[in-house]
Amino acid sequence: MGIANQVAIVTGATRGIGKAIALTLLDAGAKVVVCGRNQELLNEYNQPNVLPIKADVSKPNEVDQIIKQVLDKWGRIDILVNNAGITRDGLLMRMSDEDWQQVLDVNLSGAFYLCRSAIRPMMKQRSGKIVNISSVIGVTGNPGQINYAAAKAGLIGLTKSLAKEVASRGILVNAVAPGYIDTDMTNQLSEQQKEAIVKMIPLGRTGTVEDVAQLVYFLVSDANKYITGQTIHVDGGLVI
Ligand code: NAD
Repeated sequence: MGIANQVAIVTGATRGIGKAIALTLLDAGAKVVVCGRNQELLNEYNQPNVLPIKADVSKPNEVDQIIKQVLDKWGRIDILVNNAGITRDGLLMRMSDEDWQQVLDVNLSGAFYLCRSAIRPMMKQRSGKIVNISSVIGVTGNPGQINYAAAKAGLIGLTKSLAKEVASRGILVNAVAPGYIDTDMTNQLSEQQKEAIVKMIPLGRTGTVEDVAQLVYFLVSDANKYITGQTIHVDGGLVI
């Protein structure tokens, strides 16, 4: 699954799934741009093959700066993983405009801005791999998460359309839909809620960040030559 010396961008790489993806790609020999909002956490990546960039993916001008800095330093972009995401849960009746908009801005518009800025260099190279981190919630829906479900479903539509737009240029675009993965994002649930979720998972356990990172690694590697426009679930069978 060769990706040695390829240039990858991973957003939301300061912790959780994004950090696991960044470390997996680094281990495989890639040069990795780690993007996040917390400079101290970004500085923890103290390795020569890492370019840490503090940026908010929901701001198009900051996203353009990420792409500019990567091209200035390494001259190409082979891999883009749109992982940055947030939740602001609440029932529809009580959901504020801000909670709706923020979740759409980070999870969906953030990926759109990065794809738009990264696609030109990829098209010139006539190669590239993009993975958008969606969620099973974007497929099944979930009460209390209409903003998050709408954003994650939107990412799946974006993925399919972009895959068709750029296939002729040798660029593959896929979505990954994790189920319940143990991270800070899911830590907020009570033990009782977690037990109820595990009962619904055929493989009988919650997922790890490595479970997701290994799938992303395969999709962006040279081993994947013929999968594009797909949404691949990594959920222990939760959505069968
Ligand atoms: P997390 O909260 O631990 O990490 C999210 C990362 O995104 C952090 O590094 C955070 O700083 C970054 N981020 C947030 N807003 C940002 C912004 N505006 N600009 C730049 N970076 C920003 O979450 P996680 O569990 O690791 O989730 C990672 C991705 O996987 C998210 O897109 C999430 O929706 C998705 N996901 C997670 C689960 C799960 O069970 N944990 C399930 C399905 C999908």
